[in-house]
Amino acid sequence: MSIVAAENVTKRYRRGRETVTAVDAASFEVVAGQITGLVGPSGSGKTTLLDIVVGGTEPDNGRVTGLPDEPMWAELAIVPQAIGLLPELTIRENIDLPRRLGIPAPVDTDQVMTDLGIAALVDRAPDEVSLGEQQRAAIARALVASPRLLVADEPTSHQDEANVQRVVTALHDTTQTGSGVLVATHDPRVIERCDRILWMRDGVVNLH
Ligand code: ADP
Ligand code: MG
Repeated sequence: MSIVAAENVTKRYRRGRETVTAVDAASFEVVAGQITGLVGPSGSGKTTLLDIVVGGTEPDNGRVTGLPDEPMWAELAIVPQAIGLLPELTIRENIDLPRRLGIPAPVDTDQVMTDLGIAALVDRAPDEVSLGEQQRAAIARALVASPRLLVADEPTSHQDEANVQRVVTALHDTTQTGSGVLVATHDPRVIERCDRILWMRDGVVNLH
């Protein structure tokens, strides 16, 4: 079942007199119950394309269908490249944020923190834990709402080997409850656990 589809999406950035085509006529879909990898080198357009999928950037051409205009957390959860924890909340409060906002969060916070190896950090502030731990907390926060679509931008960029495996296992587990995952990565350890790969190069997306 398709959760979100991009049709012929193009995005250009102007830099002075130069125009960069960050995303060039990309068409694909993300389906339920699978990890879809968006794989390409740095600068190939992954972050721009994810931002269009989640509604943060308007494409110059084409369209994205399948998500509501203002999706709730249960429909869409995002793990940005910049991580984005709230600094005034503890790690646990950050992960509990959906629940604190009254959003149904069917996944147990303690369990997901244990799965991601951050159970001991509950009462710390984000600036009192490592970047890798912050990134895993952001993943935990996305997972607790059991979103229909989880979009993660390079979620293993700050992880060591053992924690890469924790992250990919957590992403895989959420697909087993029907979520679709779209993950931008160039990490071979993530790529090998993807069910489908979208190859991205110079803004162009290919299925093979
Ligand atoms: P990736 O996530 O694969 O590294 P990005 O989507 O971040 O790729 O960037 C794709 C291209 O678009 C790059 O050439 C980048 O320099 C350019 N780009 C991204 N964001 C902007 C912006 N806000 N203004 C101008 N150029 C941008
Ligand atoms: Mg990027």
